[in-house]
Amino acid sequence: MEHTSEIVAEGKFIADTTYLDRTRKYTELAIEGIKIDYYDIKNRVVHEVKKSDKIEQAHLAQVKYYLYILHKNGIEYPSAIIEYPKLKQRELIEWNDSYVETSQKWELEIEKIVGTEYCPALIKKNICKNCSYFELCYINEI
Ligand code: SF4
Repeated sequence: MEHTSEIVAEGKFIADTTYLDRTRKYTELAIEGIKIDYYDIKNRVVHEVKKSDKIEQAHLAQVKYYLYILHKNGIEYPSAIIEYPKLKQRELIEWNDSYVETSQKWELEIEKIVGTEYCPALIKKNICKNCSYFELCYINEI
């Protein structure tokens, strides 16, 4: 759903206009269902920009999963930097072997949900407001 999300488009706009040389320096990488907008091939670093004004677990989980996919595809010790322009803050996430087990657990949970006959009940969390799946999950609520 990310390609239809105004929130995602706004995030990309902030990233492109805050870090002007980013698109020139880094590569967009699509692999195994993930899309990394800014990947520094030489240093094996994922650059992720969040327009949010707070650091959320979901941001950390997202990049840890990216690192897992890179590691799975032969990239040794990948790392990530999440930048928060509104906070003027950055978070460094270094590779940790535990990401393999955690990510595989997430994948199993996802497969279980995808394999069920019906969608799970709506959870109505605050995070939903900024999620690119919002319109899909809340289709009967809007
Ligand atoms: S909108 Fe849907 S996918 Fe997004 S966080 Fe809420 S329940 Fe999860």
